[in-house]
Amino acid sequence: MVKRKNEIIPRPKSLFIKIKCTNCAAEHITFDHSTAVVKCRNCNEILIVPTGGKAKIRAEIIAKYG
Ligand SMILES: [Zn+2]
Repeated sequence: MVKRKNEIIPRPKSLFIKIKCTNCAAEHITFDHSTAVVKCRNCNEILIVPTGGKAKIRAEIIAKYG
């Protein structure tokens, strides 16, 4: 079963984000349009899940760049 979520994305704009792992509080700088799963370096928690467009961020965003 495919879960579909319709999201309106105004512009394909990508930026770097600083995220904090909700599990261990380690900070990571990554790309918000990541096409690969991003895992926490410290505890291996999945932080970013790629979707068709904007990646799904499962961590706390603490800063945005760009
Ligand atoms: Zn972690």
